Amino acid sequence: MTQLSRRGLLTGWRRSTQAIRPPWSGSEADFIERCSRCGSCSAACEGAIILAGQGGYPRIDFRNGECTFCYACARACPQALFTPRDSAPWSLRVAVNDVCLTRQQVDCRSCEDSCEPQALRFIPTRDGVAALQVDVSLCTGCGACVAGCPVSALSLRSSDGQ
Ligand code: SF4
Ligand code: SF4
Ligand code: SF4
Repeated sequence: MTQLSRRGLLTGWRRSTQAIRPPWSGSEADFIERCSRCGSCSAACEGAIILAGQGGYPRIDFRNGECTFCYACARACPQALFTPRDSAPWSLRVAVNDVCLTRQQVDCRSCEDSCEPQALRFIPTRDGVAALQVDVSLCTGCGACVAGCPVSALSLRSSDGQ
């Protein structure tokens, strides 16, 4: 693919969707430049969370499961694309939107137990419905909480604006 068409795809892509790339895969621009779309990372992911996205480029879908940070996708990639395992895998952190049932005064704690680092806490309130509070400093961006939410209130966002 030419530089121009890659750039065009990247620009259009950012407009249409913010795809989440595999962990340790660096910046979006470098990823699009280097990824050959061979599918090796997707085949290596035991959790089956790496799908073929727009243009065949891999994207993460946490509705299928969580990232265990096993590094199998990086090991399987034939390109010089992934950063070393001891570097930060990504800057993703959980975000809660307003459809969260607790914000509608409906009791729900479905996401609480899915978060091993206990970044999702429920604070008692006067009206009896505990409020969900996120401790972003504890969130690893694993995505384990996403699939269990009955109203799709949870998503992962880049905390560095990329
Ligand atoms: S680190 Fe492991 S679980 Fe996470 S996306 Fe890569 S292969 Fe899948
Ligand atoms: S599972 Fe979803 S609706 Fe329930 S408390 Fe968590 S974010 Fe809110
Ligand atoms: S992404 Fe992982 S660490 Fe972050 S809140 Fe969800 S389950 Fe917890």
